[in-house]
Amino acid sequence: MHRHPTAVGLRLALLGWLLLSASHAAAAEKASEGKARIRILATGGTIAGAQTRQEDSAYKAGALDVEQLIAAVPSLKQLASLGGEQVANIGSQDMNDAVWLKLARRINALLATPDVDGIVVTHGTDTMEETAYFLNLVIRSDKPVVLVGAMRPATALGADGPANLYNAVAVATHPGARGRGVLVVMNDEVHAARNVIKTNTTNVKSFESPNRGAAGLVHTGKVTWFEPVDTKHTHRSELSLEKVEKLPRVDILYAHANMSADLLEAAVKSGARGLVIAGVGNGNMSQQALEVLARAVKQGVAVVRSTRLMSGLVLRNSEVDDDKLGFVASGELNPAKSRVLLQLALTRTKDPAQLQRYFQEY
Ligand code: ASP
Repeated sequence: MHRHPTAVGLRLALLGWLLLSASHAAAAEKASEGKARIRILATGGTIAGAQTRQEDSAYKAGALDVEQLIAAVPSLKQLASLGGEQVANIGSQDMNDAVWLKLARRINALLATPDVDGIVVTHGTDTMEETAYFLNLVIRSDKPVVLVGAMRPATALGADGPANLYNAVAVATHPGARGRGVLVVMNDEVHAARNVIKTNTTNVKSFESPNRGAAGLVHTGKVTWFEPVDTKHTHRSELSLEKVEKLPRVDILYAHANMSADLLEAAVKSGARGLVIAGVGNGNMSQQALEVLARAVKQGVAVVRSTRLMSGLVLRNSEVDDDKLGFVASGELNPAKSRVLLQLALTRTKDPAQLQRYFQEY
């Protein structure tokens, strides 16, 4: 027989539930007493992704919110006193200038207060290297900022998100992270934002720093540091978002055999203020492309030669006469990172010599 619960029974159940949540909250508060105060800012990505069937490769990025991500790793409370905020909930293929500006401004505001010791940003892996480098250039603090993601959705067999998040929070609380610039934590490794790139479409071992190697290792939350980067970043960066409402348009064009120059012309006509060439080899491209770009420079468009290769430097005046043509050589920066730096540098100058200095120093 179905019985209606009495009013007294309901009140007792509610009281029990309240006492239980109060004791959980008290236990959580006790666990994080005296710990570093870390804010987790969530932006979406596969780390927050969910499948409908575990055996499918199909999934939706950005399906879980920040509270669900934190709740999935209860031991985080032993590392830090945590707060979560949802800044966006997108696959990082949809990352854009508007979210970058919002995220950077929020991080700057949080780190300027004495109540926050470090930031962890959960992010999709596709454009993580770009967001990390963007923040590296515009965050005005030496407090730790760590980006983290996952190659497998949260519902997958062997999901890597929870361990990555645990390690990211551990890195953000580590005194050695201070002043190192923005960091990326994936697969038990710590990488400097400037150096790191995604190298594999699906494997959990995807993030590497091909020219310089990792910034450190982190295993079950225990951190070992390697050499810090010597380029300018965060608290030593002269680039900033003060007075910047919109970032200039910069396009990337990919060089290849039989490269025509039509797309370069179309980019200039469509209003690009800067062009980055993912060049062949040491930032090379067809003669036709060089001629169109030389004309673009004369019209006030900035041109950066980068490379479609994974490692090595793009050197000035090697096979291309950069001095004569007014081009910039990207040095260590790949096309995606060159685009980020050029967007920010163009808010300060259009002078090729000054732009080249940014590429050397940042
Ligand atoms: N497309 C996803 C994203 O970048 C991939 C990932 O997070 O691993 O949001």
